[in-house]
Amino acid sequence: MEQVDVIVIGCGQGGKPLALDLADRGKHVVLFERERLGGSCVNFGCTPSKALLASAHNAGRARLAGPLGIHCDVRVDQRAVFERVRKVRDEWHDSSEKKVVESTIDLIRAEASFTGVRSVAGGGREVTAPLIVIDTGTSAAVPPVDGLAGVPYMTNHEIFDVETLPTRLIVLGGGYIGLELGQGARRLGSEVTIVNAASRIMANEEEDATKILHDALVDDGVVIFNDAKVKSVRKDGDEIVLQIENGPDVRGNGLLVAAGRTPNTGALRAERSGIELLENGMVKVDDYLQTTCAGVYAIGDVAGQPAFTHVSWEDYRRVKSTLDGKPRKRDDRVLSYTTFTEPQLARTGLTEPEAKKRGLDARSKTMPLSDVARGEEWNLTRGFFRLVIDDANDKIVGATFVGYEAGELIHVITAHIELGATWHDLEGSMYVHPTFAEGLPTLAREFAS
Ligand SMILES: Cc1cc2nc3c(=O)[nH]c(=O)nc-3n(C[C@H](O)[C@H](O)[C@H](O)COP(=O)(O)OP(=O)(O)OC[C@H]3O[C@@H](n4cnc5c(N)ncnc54)[C@H](O)[C@@H]3O)c2cc1C
Repeated sequence: MEQVDVIVIGCGQGGKPLALDLADRGKHVVLFERERLGGSCVNFGCTPSKALLASAHNAGRARLAGPLGIHCDVRVDQRAVFERVRKVRDEWHDSSEKKVVESTIDLIRAEASFTGVRSVAGGGREVTAPLIVIDTGTSAAVPPVDGLAGVPYMTNHEIFDVETLPTRLIVLGGGYIGLELGQGARRLGSEVTIVNAASRIMANEEEDATKILHDALVDDGVVIFNDAKVKSVRKDGDEIVLQIENGPDVRGNGLLVAAGRTPNTGALRAERSGIELLENGMVKVDDYLQTTCAGVYAIGDVAGQPAFTHVSWEDYRRVKSTLDGKPRKRDDRVLSYTTFTEPQLARTGLTEPEAKKRGLDARSKTMPLSDVARGEEWNLTRGFFRLVIDDANDKIVGATFVGYEAGELIHVITAHIELGATWHDLEGSMYVHPTFAEGLPTLAREFAS
């Protein structure tokens, strides 16, 4: 067995920079990757989905420009859309590939499994190291529905490789991936039906926020079935038919499964290194991302973290700090994220119910975008800004924004929370007119009453 300094399993959002960093410091780093370098975000997730949404939302905006006196006859060239999606994806992938291949990283393009305590095999090699980092991410979960395995379906792994979209697409799942790709496909010309098992889309988010998304998607022509329990799936000629327990059959000629994620821990044989998994298959980690085996860390999606690229990246920075003797807890950060539908739903910090659950004296104020000059001027009034404060010290603790480019704007509040700012700080600021952001000091002022 070869002795090396570091083993990284998975070239994802945290694993790649960590491997590069440690290799730069002169360590012998072995990096195992079983698929394309760069991980899910670059190859099957954020990058291709957002490139697709760039086309889709431009088409959507053009169709919605009537009230501004602009009437467009939108023609979508799906082949060109997907060609561009793959071009953007491949550029990012190639840049990951170049960085790794040109570094001193000892890359093994194979699936890795533990063989014993801190020893790993793959690609015909077996290595051991005092430091191992698991960054194996997640894959699309495929629900155990009768007949599903027997019909052709896509997940996020396949959809970006199509030449054109099915003309009648069924999306199984009402989470953010299903909504983004469902609205994207609709705006690119497909008929889309979203089949969602929960009572509403994005059921973990605030109801009034998701209602706005629901209505926007329906206005685009997306059909949404909530509370829809799929009993079976079958082929009927060229059609795929979902039999719904409590409703009519749903028919289409393409199926996208976007029904959650499952951790990539099956192949790892983590138990051989004394690494415990949680009931849901995620790797169990402590506050510093260390697993139950000393010297073995897990980062990103597979460590049961909120499944976002920026979280995996931040995990890498925390492990690096720990290795540098300046340990930083994994929760020592403000979580923000965005659903890139139109309008967008962006969140940072805590909602009011979450804050109350943590024992804070939480209070929130909400402003509809129709109260913001820019919203009216640009006919983008769909949405709201909501701020949450802790009345005990007036600090801002969270925000929910729904609206045009809400995902950009939310960082104003993330920065306030990170800096421990109060609503008085925000209220006292002078923001540019007429921007969406200028609504924020006005909204903060409402906490005075
Ligand atoms: C459609 C879609 C859209 C998304 N959009 C966004 C977005 O807009 N913003 C956002 O923040 N997040 C988004 N995400 C989530 C984001 O992609 C993930 O949170 C992120 O990629 C997780 O990074 P990671 O480092 O944990 O793992 P990954 O990036 O998944 O990397 C894990 C790597 O490990 C490899 N691997 C697995 N098992 C083994 C093994 N045994 N041996 C060797 N290699 C192995 C895999 O092949 C993979 O390359 C999206 C996801 C999807 C599916």
